[in-house]
Amino acid sequence: MIDIQQIRKDFPILHRTVNGKLLVYFDNAATSQTPKQVIDVIVDYYSNYNANIHRGVHTLSQEATDKYEQARQKIQKHFNAAQAHEIIFTSGTTHGINLVAHGFSSILKKGDEVMVSALEHHSNIVPWQMLCEKTGAQLKVIPMNDEGELILSSFEELLSENTKLVFVNHISNALGTINPIEIIIEKAHAVGAAILIDGAQACPHLKADVQALDVDFYVTSAHKMCGPTGVGMLYGKEAWLQKLPPYQGGGEMIATVTFEKTTYADLPHKFEAGTPNICGGIAFGAAIDYMNSIGFDNIAAYEADLLEYATEKLLEIDGLKIYGTSKNKTSVISFNIEGIHPYDIGTIVDKLGIAVRTGHHCAQPIMDYYKIPGTVRASFAFYNTKAEIDILVEAVKRAKMMLS
Ligand code: PMP
Repeated sequence: MIDIQQIRKDFPILHRTVNGKLLVYFDNAATSQTPKQVIDVIVDYYSNYNANIHRGVHTLSQEATDKYEQARQKIQKHFNAAQAHEIIFTSGTTHGINLVAHGFSSILKKGDEVMVSALEHHSNIVPWQMLCEKTGAQLKVIPMNDEGELILSSFEELLSENTKLVFVNHISNALGTINPIEIIIEKAHAVGAAILIDGAQACPHLKADVQALDVDFYVTSAHKMCGPTGVGMLYGKEAWLQKLPPYQGGGEMIATVTFEKTTYADLPHKFEAGTPNICGGIAFGAAIDYMNSIGFDNIAAYEADLLEYATEKLLEIDGLKIYGTSKNKTSVISFNIEGIHPYDIGTIVDKLGIAVRTGHHCAQPIMDYYKIPGTVRASFAFYNTKAEIDILVEAVKRAKMMLS
């Protein structure tokens, strides 16, 4: 069970006002808020042991290195990776995807096919288009239906022995749909394709088990799950990480360097060139601890209740349409009101202290599918309440009245 009043005390930002009103933060799919347990870890790092890692013999450097590697182990345990060196620290989901796409540029050739879904964030589309341009591989798209679900029969038809790589998000950021990745992974493997799952939207809502999923690559960002921005992780099966070439060259990722030849460091350092986001990595570990202290089963049950309540209340508004109506979805509601631009609704509700996202949510193909410029997206976290949803519903009604 969630003790909501206790949890809200953990988040200092939830007690500020915006435009004279207590903040209602419903832009969690863009970035989550940070509890004091994570903020304290950041302050402690810069106050007490800020140092560069992996290379210093001095005490501070060793303390920072230990904490950073402990964070890697926390991430390993959380996502149930078999080995800590299968976890690569990145600057976020986007970095992880680009790292893998870069690696495949030396593997793919003309005639090969790679497959994306119609439900992706631009970060899981553009790097692969760049890869296709470089290699001559062809990009295929798994189509979606009106409910915002992937059409699995079309996916199966598109798969062939030419398919080398499939990349799909675990949960859609624009609609909240939870994709049936277990089936997608199994079918992709059946034709010998590798698979990457973009877990950016899944990590705040559920615990992904990379071994049970048997996924080849899984990427995510800490800031979606109560951690700081600018840090994330790439999980890769060891065999794949051994096979892929380094992404960036620099310090940390080498074994030996001469002007004639450089040899690369072992995993995970081969993919971690330069000074990493040390504090961010440590805080990522603290965010994982925090979320597990609440419990993912508790989070899922609480958010499902919020979603049901908000869906019901919002649908009472005449002319309001929700996009993404799959039964299998997380606490994201993307909507429009007939005849009103989403941006105008977003602007008015902001005046009332409510943060929602408006626009295409970096998923233009989804907006094109529905033939709309964008939506208003309210995305809920375990620290939101039904009372806040009531405030949103009243604000949307008011916006509708002002704009109609
Ligand atoms: N994929 C999805 C599904 C996302 O929601 C996001 C963030 N909005 C990203 C990728 C990109 O994450 P980041 O900006 O942290 O790299």
